[in-house]
Amino acid sequence: MKGPRRIIAYAALMVFAAATIAAAPGNQDTTRSECRVTVGARPSRITLHLEDRAELARAARDEMMRTARMLWRAAGVDVQSSPDPFPGDNAEGGVHMRVTIAADAGPSSLTAPRPIASIRFVDKKPSTSIDVYLIEVRKLMDLLVFDDRRLAHQPGLFQDEMLGRILGRALAHEIGHFVFASAGHARSGLMRPTHRLDQLVGRLDQPFAIIEPAACGQHP
Ligand SMILES: [Zn+2]
Repeated sequence: MKGPRRIIAYAALMVFAAATIAAAPGNQDTTRSECRVTVGARPSRITLHLEDRAELARAARDEMMRTARMLWRAAGVDVQSSPDPFPGDNAEGGVHMRVTIAADAGPSSLTAPRPIASIRFVDKKPSTSIDVYLIEVRKLMDLLVFDDRRLAHQPGLFQDEMLGRILGRALAHEIGHFVFASAGHARSGLMRPTHRLDQLVGRLDQPFAIIEPAACGQHP
C-alpha cells in the first residue's frame, strides 16, 4: 500500500546577470534595520556535510564554508562543516544538513533562468538537503570581468576565491529557507530571490544581511 503522495518543491536562488559586471565594491543595498532579526527559537547550530560531486578546489571549498559561516554568525547561528558523511535527519548533535555540489544542472522542474542552488521542500516543509549547481555558477563566472580581464584569465587562486564566495552566499541563502522554515523571500538582504552577480563576488557582506522573509518580505 502506498502512502499519500509527497509534494516535492524547490526554493531556488536565481542571479541577475544582465547588469554590467565589474568589481565595484561601492555598490551596496540599504537594508532597513527594523527588518533585521535575531534568531531565537531557530536552530543555533547547523552542521553541514558536503558531498562534492564536482571536485571543487580546496581554496574554493574553504571560501564557500567561510562565507556561509560568517553570514550566519551575524544572526546567531553557528554553521559548522563536518568531514563525516551526512548522518541522517534524526542524528544527535543538533541540525545536520547535506550539501551536494552537483555536477549536473539539477532537476528539470527548475525552469529557466536556471538557479545556482536550491533546497528541497517536502510537503511544504524544508528538508535538510541543499543542492548547488556548479555548472550554472560557472556560466555566470564566464561573464565576470575584473580590471578588463576576464575571470578565466586571472590567477587560479583568485578564481577559486570568487567561486567560493558565490557558492558560500548561495549556500547561506538556502540555509535561510531551512532556518526560517519558509520558501518565501525578502525584499532585501540574503533572502532576496535574486542577487546581482557583482554583489555575489563583491567584498561587502552588507547586501546579504539576514532578514527574515515573513517579517518584512514577500512570498512568491
Ligand atoms: Zn530562495
